[in-house]
Amino acid sequence: MRSCSTEPVREHILIGLKGARNRMSGQDAVLDAAAAHVRRLLQEQVQRVERISKPVEWIDYSKLDTIVIGVIGGDGIGPIIAKETVRVMKELLKSELSSGRVRINEIPGLEIERRLKLMQPLPDDVLSEIRKCHVLLKGPTTTPEEGSGMANIESANIAIRRAFDLFANVRPVRIPSQGIDWVFFRENTEGEYMLGSRGVMVTPELAMDFKIITKPGAERIIRLAFEHARRTGRRKVTVVTKANVVKTTDGLFLETARRVAKEYPEISWDGWYIDVFTAKLIDEKRRRDFQVVVLPNLYGDIVTDEAAELQGGVGTAGSANLGARFGMFEAIHGSAPRMITEGRGAYADPLSLMRAAVMLLEHVGMLVQSRRLAMALDICALYEPKAKITGRPDGASASQFGDHVIATLRDPHLDSRWGSFQQK
Ligand code: NAD
Repeated sequence: MRSCSTEPVREHILIGLKGARNRMSGQDAVLDAAAAHVRRLLQEQVQRVERISKPVEWIDYSKLDTIVIGVIGGDGIGPIIAKETVRVMKELLKSELSSGRVRINEIPGLEIERRLKLMQPLPDDVLSEIRKCHVLLKGPTTTPEEGSGMANIESANIAIRRAFDLFANVRPVRIPSQGIDWVFFRENTEGEYMLGSRGVMVTPELAMDFKIITKPGAERIIRLAFEHARRTGRRKVTVVTKANVVKTTDGLFLETARRVAKEYPEISWDGWYIDVFTAKLIDEKRRRDFQVVVLPNLYGDIVTDEAAELQGGVGTAGSANLGARFGMFEAIHGSAPRMITEGRGAYADPLSLMRAAVMLLEHVGMLVQSRRLAMALDICALYEPKAKITGRPDGASASQFGDHVIATLRDPHLDSRWGSFQQK
């Protein structure tokens, strides 16, 4: 997650402020213009709270005749790792694809060059193709930064998350040799990011951004975390905030957790402050105690990258963006443009997106297939790393890794082979 477009709104406010300064002198005009902007934001948020408070029924994938999986390659190394992931999925889902239970729909048109040409973070035709799918596997997409020479359009990811209200970002991190088995539930739609491109330059010297936490927004992510703990037999949920300092918004998040936790008496929970929690993630004695972790957006963004680094780097981790009616599954890293310009794209690690595919299959209820892929990835990446990826020509290429995974999936003794490593 990188930059959001900041310029249009700021410019708008500054122009308003300059105009106001000419008409009325002094601070009042400045404050009135800023207050009018804040008022508009508040109105939108009040309407949004009403909208997300309405009960929504979660999609039941078992009732669908055909599950349509959309695939978007993305930018940079995205198409390279997506190609390998699709190859592996086609092997894994051979019978489901031939029976028509699953369809894979590759969607072109989200490339950065096209988004810039159309000046749309999510072109209309791409959005309507995504709407025809039940879940989406997405390679990383480039978001132009200020000063990059490209137009500063909004991130495609944020546009997709908003279009489908994908409020939960779920990221598992596992290091079996160290007893680490974490699942992070990061709130995906609120916090500092929600109005990240709509802050106010009140005066050229005074900048203000906004942090939003809503009761229904906090409740739905916290409930999802507790439900996950219950469903997977985990015994503990950790809630991370900075509620001792950021009292109103983080306070509401923590208060909501306290209330929701009462409905899950079999699961213990504890609250941590983000600073101590971040430190404890590298404390080998304490960190294996964490199981399910739920946090607001910004803290979740930072901590999950830290956790993925402990697992072996951002190239090893997948994530799910979930809403009640749609799910988007992706690698946690970006499009790694430097790997492309340095000619190393072919050596990108596709494990991240393949792990995302494991989550996708589990989410749609294909538990056997999801488990088989997870076992094959454990064998190829952790237990028998024949095709070790280094990101450089001294290591395996993405396609060699793909071959290794496909060969492993074809092993009739996959289960016992994987099991033999669990006893060691
Ligand atoms: P990045 O994650 O793309 O890359 C940082 C470094 O990590 C790379 O230079 C590379 O050395 C390494 N790396 C990342 N993925 C790897 C892989 N699969 N295999 C091997 N090495 C890998 O971070 P960045 O350079 O900050 O971002 C590049 C672009 O990606 C930006 O435009 C950013 O906005 C975008 N981005 C997109 C997403 C997304 O679509 N979900 C997420 C993050 C960043």
